[in-house]
Amino acid sequence: MSTVFGLIIEGKVPCTKVFENERILAIEDIHPVAPVHILIMPKKAIANLQSIQPKDLPLIAEIAQIAQQIAEEKGIEEGYRLLTNNGPDAGQTVFHLHFHLIGGRVLGHLG
Ligand code: 5GP
Repeated sequence: MSTVFGLIIEGKVPCTKVFENERILAIEDIHPVAPVHILIMPKKAIANLQSIQPKDLPLIAEIAQIAQQIAEEKGIEEGYRLLTNNGPDAGQTVFHLHFHLIGGRVLGHLG
């Protein structure tokens, strides 16, 4: 079943794109928790980090590289968080793998 991010990737739901290539899409989060809050995701439908297959692990390296690039563009390279919520107990609400790139303010300790 397609998720809202699947629909965004297919162009059926609007978004504000920050980065795109054949494999990865980065968009502004619709409910930002900080001045910079970007979601970086593979276009491939993978539910979450726990379900990623070894052959798709290079996508994670590419996402880390794109996060570095966006952090620099946004001027937050001195302090940001890159995180993924894996599963309902961690607060995952959209079951299409994505990483939150959060920064632009002082971030509190992880809860
Ligand atoms: P999760 O809770 O799964 O880690 O993160 C889902 C994120 O997706 C949330 O931060 C939420 O604000 C964001 N989100 C949910 N629906 C949409 C949408 O339609 N468009 C965009 N740009 N972000 C969304």
